[in-house]
Amino acid sequence: PGQGNDQDFPYASSVTSLVALKQAGYVREDYADGKAFVIYQHMRTPGLTENFYKTVQQDPGIFLTKGQVVQVSKNGAGLIVNADDTLLGQPIQIKADMVVLATGMVPATKDDPVINLAYRQGPGFRDNAIFNDYADSNYICFPYETQRTGIYAAGGIRRSMTTEESVEDAAGAALKAIQCLESVNRGVSVHPRSGDLTFPDFFFQRCTQCKRCTQECPFGALDDDERGTPKTNPTRCRRCGTCMGACPERIINFANYSIDSVSSMVKAIKVPSTDDFDEPPLRVLGLICENDAYPALDIAALNRLSWNADVRFIPVRCLGSVNVIWIKDALSKGMDGVFLMGCKHGDDYQCHFVKGSELAEIRVKKIGEALSSLALEPERVAHFEVAIDEYDKIPQMLQEFMGTIEGLGPNPFKGF
Ligand code: SF4
Ligand code: SF4
Repeated sequence: PGQGNDQDFPYASSVTSLVALKQAGYVREDYADGKAFVIYQHMRTPGLTENFYKTVQQDPGIFLTKGQVVQVSKNGAGLIVNADDTLLGQPIQIKADMVVLATGMVPATKDDPVINLAYRQGPGFRDNAIFNDYADSNYICFPYETQRTGIYAAGGIRRSMTTEESVEDAAGAALKAIQCLESVNRGVSVHPRSGDLTFPDFFFQRCTQCKRCTQECPFGALDDDERGTPKTNPTRCRRCGTCMGACPERIINFANYSIDSVSSMVKAIKVPSTDDFDEPPLRVLGLICENDAYPALDIAALNRLSWNADVRFIPVRCLGSVNVIWIKDALSKGMDGVFLMGCKHGDDYQCHFVKGSELAEIRVKKIGEALSSLALEPERVAHFEVAIDEYDKIPQMLQEFMGTIEGLGPNPFKGF
């Protein structure tokens, strides 16, 4: 409920609806002649609770309508409730003995986000504003997981929930916590790179203390000392590689995933030239996030969808791990275009490492400016987002990008 606004929508969930229905039922149980009116903005009764809603609807003493309560005023010893925009199509006025305002469940972190975590990025959960001040959580892919490794949010701190939902949620979070402890004891990474044994390795002699890695690490795994040199927190690290993608000095690498290893893959891709063709075909590189985009490509292929044969793909750990040097390597080798394909970002982000896709988009925009200064068209580099179930959109995306590159013509650096 709210007066002409819906600000409490995120907080007034099925809990609010179900409690209102239950209380209406109590009134009827205690007073055989009693009447209960429920005026709601949103009636949310998911799953089997819809049956409860239907049962309440059958009670002749309970009146339910969507509407906006515009006024509650005194009427002698009782009250008068006025409501507009009702399902009846006209305002209603109800004489009542008692009015109950059903409120939502507002998380404690709305008033005070501080939960005293010792992180350089602040003592609270991150990105609370995106989540209506609930604890951060990858709602789409990994409920419970926060951006603070080892802290799993469950129940009312994550979203408005019924007791039953909270119990189920807590069981899921507890299992995640057990997995986390077992992984840390074995010295391996927690989800989503479960079992990964490597850590980012810093060649500190060449560190310029620019702090990009410490600022961009989504999991706060990097602190810095008084000079700005990163200090690693291995147990917080999820091995996403975002620090590797961020570092302008390219001094962060993993034993099994490095600037050099991907650069070598880029350089190993053959670019057709006039030595072999009268009119060499285009060559376009796709750096593909291995979490959603690469499986989506797989599904597209299994469904026999096809795309331009001039595209080559290299899987990456996360788009956040893409270092712009790989894009420069590809273009300086004469490739005609480069695109990054990863998970969706924004409010309903699906990025497995939270920030990777978003950071990649920012970096692509920046590289566009650098390309302009080299007289290369910024349109040669693009960023696409796909959900894993959007595999059928991939051929169209690639076709449109290839159309753009064909319109631009071959990379002028080809052959140099
Ligand atoms: S790999 Fe990811 S989690 Fe680990 S330090 Fe780098 S950015 Fe942070
Ligand atoms: S991004 Fe690279 S150069 Fe900058 S602080 Fe981190 S390690 Fe040092």
